[in-house]
Amino acid sequence: MGEMLLFRCSECEFQDTVFVGIGMLYRPENLLNDQEGGAMKDVIPSKSLREKVKKLVSEGYELESGYEEAVYTCEHCYRMTTRFRFALKHPNGAVFVPSYSCVVCQHQMKEADLDNFAPAACPSCKQRTFTYDPSTYGLWD
Ligand SMILES: [Zn+2]
Ligand SMILES: [Zn+2]
Repeated sequence: MGEMLLFRCSECEFQDTVFVGIGMLYRPENLLNDQEGGAMKDVIPSKSLREKVKKLVSEGYELESGYEEAVYTCEHCYRMTTRFRFALKHPNGAVFVPSYSCVVCQHQMKEADLDNFAPAACPSCKQRTFTYDPSTYGLWD
């Protein structure tokens, strides 16, 4: 069961709901299935990242538990978005964690701390007044 989070701009009233956590389809075998009926293309839209993950899995890497959709913000332009946060671990101890780049400016994004959320850039008015509103809460499957 995932959570729906509301983000709201205090300047222009723009608001957006994002989905974090995991849904019903987020079983490991489904997440790593990029064929018809699998969830991989939905959770990892980047083809190059999917190819990388498939290669690592073929080399013996396994999906670590604790994966989920998470909020990321760009350290450069402060745009926020959600990405699938996960780690792949090899029995020899090697770990792969994806890094995601901003769709706007291509700089690296960092996972946001929702408890201490630094205002992000509003997608509408571009000011840094787009904040997480913890008073509104919802669930998705
Ligand atoms: Zn950016
Ligand atoms: Zn705004």
